[in-house]
Amino acid sequence: MPKIELKHVTKRFGKFVAVDDLNLTIDDRSFVTLLGPSGCGKTTTLRMIAGLETPTEGIITINDRVVFSSEDGIDISPDKRDVGFLFQNYALWPHMTVYKNIAFGLENLKWPKEKVQQRVTELLDMLKIGEFRERYPSELSGGQQQRVAIARTLATGPKVLFMDEPLSNLDAKLRMEMRTELKRLHRETDSTFVYVTHDQLEAMTLSNRVCLMKNGYMQQYDPPLEVYRRPANTFTADFVGSPPINLISGKVIDDKPVILLLPGDVKLAFIPSDTVQLEVGQEIVLGIRPEHVEITDSDAMAEGIILSSLPSGMETIVQLSLGESYLHSVIFGDLDFDVQKKVGISFSKGNFNLFDKKTTLNLG
Ligand code: ATP
Repeated sequence: MPKIELKHVTKRFGKFVAVDDLNLTIDDRSFVTLLGPSGCGKTTTLRMIAGLETPTEGIITINDRVVFSSEDGIDISPDKRDVGFLFQNYALWPHMTVYKNIAFGLENLKWPKEKVQQRVTELLDMLKIGEFRERYPSELSGGQQQRVAIARTLATGPKVLFMDEPLSNLDAKLRMEMRTELKRLHRETDSTFVYVTHDQLEAMTLSNRVCLMKNGYMQQYDPPLEVYRRPANTFTADFVGSPPINLISGKVIDDKPVILLLPGDVKLAFIPSDTVQLEVGQEIVLGIRPEHVEITDSDAMAEGIILSSLPSGMETIVQLSLGESYLHSVIFGDLDFDVQKKVGISFSKGNFNLFDKKTTLNLG
């Protein structure tokens, strides 16, 4: 059963279209991330679902209840949508202890004292902050404050939890820890999480599904690994993955087998999957992840030149030239390659995507 549904939702600020005809279904209890570069419309989308921003057009349903409809003039206020928020600049009440901060919402709802105590203790345990219950926010680290803010948001048991870059004020180590916490919390509550980030790694590791946006348009809405392995277009291919995917333009000069002519007179022969139909003369873009570019002595598809080799202990990032194109290879282990050396390059079988150069769409 879908929890949240957006139908033809558009938001204009004057003439500027921030979100354009968005159709999105967020399943009950899923963890969905809105991902994309700055200004693509992620926050506006989240705010429209939450009721903090009024769409120009469209229908929004939460739990089978229409909370917004431009046609029928329905616009339910945020406090009546049974949702919780956690934003980047979460503000804890400085004059209240951790306990009070978490209990406040429940006391406001006139919960009996014992039930409040029970619920707050449960949340203190869940977020592992029991030992700080009598401290004030100023006596906590950033990560501890963040956990209190999460506990406060979860206290009333919202069915939907909206989070807008909630980890961006934390350092790298804490962010990593909090990612694990958020994933655990999602498992332990039966809430639906809708999460905004521009950090592809965060989106990839946290969510069941990623909604990738650009210029107000949804580009792809799929499980993270699907986005990684089968990107819908060159934009989504490039947005996820670090180091980024290699995107090499070329022209099909033969179709049995396919031979691709790359700049610098390099010819690459390969067999595309059955679903791909290529025509001689077609301009395409070959997308291959760095971990699928092999440096090999035997069965090489082409010859390249090592431009740089960056061993980092666990892996080595190698930059190569292939004719006039450049590509990265990531090789597991601590290897050293001679710069300027000629090497054979091969792409591990089937692990590439082909895109149409004009439309940028995946041809598979
Ligand atoms: P970021 O990651 O930088 O927060 P975002 O993807 O969340 O970006 P939004 O905040 O949704 O982007 O904004 C989408 C576009 O709408 C931006 O170009 C922004 O400048 C514009 N915008 C947002 N709010 C308003 C407003 N109140 N008035 C005019 N334009 C706005």
